Amino acid sequence: MEGVTSYPRTSSQQLPKELNFAKILTALSKNSIYSQSANKLLALSNLMPNNGSKKDPAHPAIYPTGVIPKNLGTQEKKVYDLIVKRFLATFGEEAERETMTVKFDVKQEIFIGKGTLTTYKGWHELYAPYVKLKEEEMPDLKEGEEIKISKLDKLKKQTLPPKRYTPASIISELEKRGLGTKATRADIIENLFNRGYVQEKSIEATKLGIRVESTLEKYVPEIIDEALTTKIEEEMEEIRENKTSQEKILTKAKEHLTKLLNHFKENEDKIGAELSEANQETQDIQNTLGPCPSCKDGTIMIKRGKFGLFAACNKYPDCKTTFNLPKMALVKPTGKVSVGGYPIIEVIRKGKRPQELSLNPAENDSDLPPEKKKELKDIKSGKLKKKCPECGKELLVRSSIYGEFIACSGYPKCKYTDNSPFNGKKDADKDNESDKSTEKTVENADSSNIKKETKVTKKKVAKKKSKKKTSKKKK
Ligand SMILES: [Zn+2]
Ligand SMILES: [Zn+2]
Repeated sequence: MEGVTSYPRTSSQQLPKELNFAKILTALSKNSIYSQSANKLLALSNLMPNNGSKKDPAHPAIYPTGVIPKNLGTQEKKVYDLIVKRFLATFGEEAERETMTVKFDVKQEIFIGKGTLTTYKGWHELYAPYVKLKEEEMPDLKEGEEIKISKLDKLKKQTLPPKRYTPASIISELEKRGLGTKATRADIIENLFNRGYVQEKSIEATKLGIRVESTLEKYVPEIIDEALTTKIEEEMEEIRENKTSQEKILTKAKEHLTKLLNHFKENEDKIGAELSEANQETQDIQNTLGPCPSCKDGTIMIKRGKFGLFAACNKYPDCKTTFNLPKMALVKPTGKVSVGGYPIIEVIRKGKRPQELSLNPAENDSDLPPEKKKELKDIKSGKLKKKCPECGKELLVRSSIYGEFIACSGYPKCKYTDNSPFNGKKDADKDNESDKSTEKTVENADSSNIKKETKVTKKKVAKKKSKKKTSKKKK
């Protein structure tokens, strides 16, 4: 960003005094968006950033240089604003929040109500709109007070399992566990995808991935030992910080790795056999498209032929059913079958949304406008004759997995196609993840047991002042 912020690839949460905060704030005060906040901070007698614990020997935490940015894109503007406001907020005063907890005794069943309010904004003002805290006020209650029930809800809620990792969330988990470095974590995840151990954006382990893990666990558990990896990572860091000698660590690491690799070598054949079996199983699953629509007995599988991939019934030579598969595309089974009984595949092409298509091209024309369908039908039947706009030869109807389309009879010399059928079907949005996890709450067995008026026998109004501090964290 043209020198408007410091180096962003840092893991530091610390702003050193040497940065000359007053100078940066003075520069920021020239920017009308930040002038009010910057001037307020400049009026303080002492500018002390609230530093976090993480250090990075190479770079300080990200800070704005004070240079007023020009020509920033929308996204860049947002990132810049976040960086500046985070920087300003670290110099802010502590905010105060008050939490009130009320315990209601309903026939000796204790229900708990909680409300938290910000009583002093402090740094929140400097960090707006990025502070997102719930403000919930509890009504003013006295200890021992009886409360009327105005409405009774019977709720049944369940806890949701944790969400799957995404590439971003697994990287922060790796960081938490001290696995990898900030330079290698993204590559580690990419490797898992490239080798087919995991798939999807909401990460799932593949059968192959699970088998690789269990095989290694069985024969060389040390290799997937998290503690060992973390330890090596820590020791590397110690070398970098000159806390220990390179030779000492290297000798130790060599010892470890030799032992581990010898162990691996001893089991090499067994590991190899298990992994190739796992690989074959995975391939079989990936290549199975669905039941054969002709013989009803066989299974349509992806095969590799002289001219690339195609789909064929595994009862060959008894059943000679074959289908074309799209070129330059990744084909995945969906487990679904079309209305006409054909396996439905998922087709993934670069730069396009994944499409679900029937193996029967004629079933993939549903998105065509009616006049186009009629044109295709008429050309096919010979009722309509059209000349190629490029070479003048007659046009005819061809079909591919994406449906039927009009092409030149002069192919392969003339490559003209009327490619409107290639637009394909729109895919239903599969993003229906819920992002809220609900906590299990007490379930009321029978509401008729509860009288209209309930006595609050025990009630504690605990006023806690929780002081939240700003800490600079994350990139
Ligand atoms: Zn068949
Ligand atoms: Zn032509």
